[in-house]
Amino acid sequence: MAHSKQFMERRAAGLCVDCGAPAFQGHLRCEKCLENQRFITAEYRKRKRREREVKTLEDTIKAATEAGMSYGQYVAQNSEGMKWRIKKYREVQ
Ligand SMILES: [Zn+2]
Repeated sequence: MAHSKQFMERRAAGLCVDCGAPAFQGHLRCEKCLENQRFITAEYRKRKRREREVKTLEDTIKAATEAGMSYGQYVAQNSEGMKWRIKKYREVQ
């Protein structure tokens, strides 16, 4: 991703690249924006993880259909690991 001119200027001046306040020591952002960033990153990771779990379930349903089984039959015939993943998936809903 290309950084904007403003980003470069603020970084060079030791200012927060998001809001222009003095940056927190050794960082590109002030303390407040670092907090925001941490929150956004955590939310992003959570969403990504959820997407992965959903994909796992969809794959399972697809595989069951291809095997000519119902979803329940397919899961019952599969490993504990698979059951565990489905369980995890339900917990995050
Ligand atoms: Zn800031």
